[in-house]
Amino acid sequence: MSADIEKVKCLIIGSGPAGYTAAIYASRANMSPVLYQGLQPGGQLTTTNDVENFPGYPDGISGPEMMIQLQKQAERFGTDIRNGWISKVDFTGPIHKVWVDGEKEVHADTIIVSTGASAKYLGLPSEQHYLSNGGGVSACAVCDGFFYRGQDVVIVGAGDSACEEAGYLANICNSVTMLVRKEEFRASVIMEERVRSNSKINILFNSEIEEVQGDGNVVTGITVKNNKTGEFHDVACTGVFIAIGHKPNTDIFKGWLDLDETGYIINKPGSSKTNIEGVFVSGDAADHVYRQAITAAGTGCMAALDAERYLAAKGLH
Ligand code: NDP
Repeated sequence: MSADIEKVKCLIIGSGPAGYTAAIYASRANMSPVLYQGLQPGGQLTTTNDVENFPGYPDGISGPEMMIQLQKQAERFGTDIRNGWISKVDFTGPIHKVWVDGEKEVHADTIIVSTGASAKYLGLPSEQHYLSNGGGVSACAVCDGFFYRGQDVVIVGAGDSACEEAGYLANICNSVTMLVRKEEFRASVIMEERVRSNSKINILFNSEIEEVQGDGNVVTGITVKNNKTGEFHDVACTGVFIAIGHKPNTDIFKGWLDLDETGYIINKPGSSKTNIEGVFVSGDAADHVYRQAITAAGTGCMAALDAERYLAAKGLH
């Protein structure tokens, strides 16, 4: 092996709650984990203002602050946390090879994939403004819906997620306006029927957001464009939820790990194991259903335990 190639027992890819929890468990089990943070250190939670649903924080905590604490906790037990992006992998043999930033080669006995998923957004400047300042745009109703209780909100999307989140919001908000860009839903029939029969949800078909309005700090409404008639009208609201899908960050694993049609990694049921021995998955990279910080952390723990058992069974630990 070339002197330039680094050999590690446990390599963790990704720095959201899944990756850091895996790191805490792996480092406490003396697996000397190395964690590469990826392009967005801290993951999706760094774009969340207040986290109020993670057990143990009775007063809530900001997403970025929570990720700093998780990082510190992983470092406390000796996790080697590094900047860097895994650009390529090769899982041909028992030694799993990865390349960092297209250059450095690392060989790992075990790999824990915690690369997460990214919410899709419309891409409007006004949407991005009120997303980044926490002023009223969100991609997670379960995370942020509570802040809009009793208020009027808008949700964009027509898939199962949008329907599920519209129902969730209808339970806590005054009204929900749902924008569907086509004349029909994409969601399953049962989900669509639930939305249609909910008197608090007003569905606007052939409708897209032209602009998110606000006072610079918080959202006050949206301009809606009817893409059939070309007409515009305004809807007053304080929250705008974007539910147009997620993209799992799994492109580099194509051809190596079994992925579903959207790109989510398929894990062996009830475990973090993938189709490749010694490669484990945790967090949103394998989860299109729950997508919560707490579930990501739980599966991060599972992946570290599975990796430790794998190393022990192979006599590597
Ligand atoms: P989907 O890809 O299924 O749906 C995305 C929706 O967003 C579509 O209706 C699409 O519209 C719309 N959309 C995409 N881009 C835009 C845009 N730029 N402007 C406006 N609308 C847009 O994503 P989901 O997250 O809903 O679901 C992902 C997977 O997870 C699915 O397989 C789903 O079945 C599953 N799921 C299952 C649940 C359950 O069973 N309880 C709950 C949640 C998700 P269009 O239809 O026009 O393309």
